[in-house]
Amino acid sequence: MSKKHFSVAIDGPSGAGKSTLAKAVAAELGIVYVDTGAIYRTIGCYVYDKQVDPKDAEAVTALLPEIKIEMQHGEDGLQRMFLNGEDVTTKIRLPQMSMYASAVSAIPQVRTFLLEMQRELARTHSVIMDGRDIATVVLPDADVKIFLYADAEIRAQRRTLELEQRGTPQPYEEVLRDIEARDWADSHRETAPLRPADDSIMVDNGDKDFEQSKQFLLTLIKDWVGL
Ligand code: C5P
Repeated sequence: MSKKHFSVAIDGPSGAGKSTLAKAVAAELGIVYVDTGAIYRTIGCYVYDKQVDPKDAEAVTALLPEIKIEMQHGEDGLQRMFLNGEDVTTKIRLPQMSMYASAVSAIPQVRTFLLEMQRELARTHSVIMDGRDIATVVLPDADVKIFLYADAEIRAQRRTLELEQRGTPQPYEEVLRDIEARDWADSHRETAPLRPADDSIMVDNGDKDFEQSKQFLLTLIKDWVGL
C-alpha cells in the first residue's frame, strides 16, 4: 500500500479478548500494539493514589496537569506504563483500578488529555490499537476497524481465570458484576461511548478459540491492508 504506516482499530467490551489477540496479531505482523485501556488505568491509578473521587470531574481534571504518562513497548510486546516516572504496569491491573479507569474515562477532559498521545503513536508507527472508541474517535481513518465481542458470561469466565493466573483471584460472580457494570458505564456515557463504527467488522470471539480468532483477524487485516 502507498501509505507509510497502517493502523488497525479494535474496539469492544471488557474481557472480549482484545488485548491478548491484538498483542499476538501485532507480533505476527511486526507492528506496535497499543493498549489504550492501560492509559486510562494509569490515570485511574493516580486518582486512586490521591484519594480523589473518580466521578468528580472537576477534581479529576484539576489533577491532569500533574500527570505525566509514558509508555515503553518492549521486544516481548509488553506495554510498560510509567506514571510520573514510576513503573505502574502491574499496579494498573489490580481489580479496583478497572472501576477507577472506567469512571475517569467518562470525563471529557480526560479523553481530550489522552487523544493526541494515542494519535501520535499511529502517526509514527504501524499500530494495532485496542480500546472503546478507537474506530469512532481516535482513529476514524483506521485502515481496518474491528469490533470484538462475546457474551458477558463468557468474558467473566475468561477474566476470572486470567486474574487467578496473575495471582490476584476474584470470585466469578464479582467479576461478572464488574464486567456488566463497566459495559453499562462504557456504553452509556455521553463522551465517546463504546459502540461499533458504521464500517466496523463485527467479530464474535465467544464461539472461537484463541488460535481461530487470531488467524481470522490476521487474514482479515492482510486482505484489507494488502500485505
Ligand atoms: O481495556 P481496559 O479494560 O483495560 O480499560 C479500562 C477502562 O478504560 C474501560 O472500562 C473503559 O472505561 C476505559 N477505556 C476507554 N476508552 C478506551 C480504552 C479504555 O474509555 N479507548
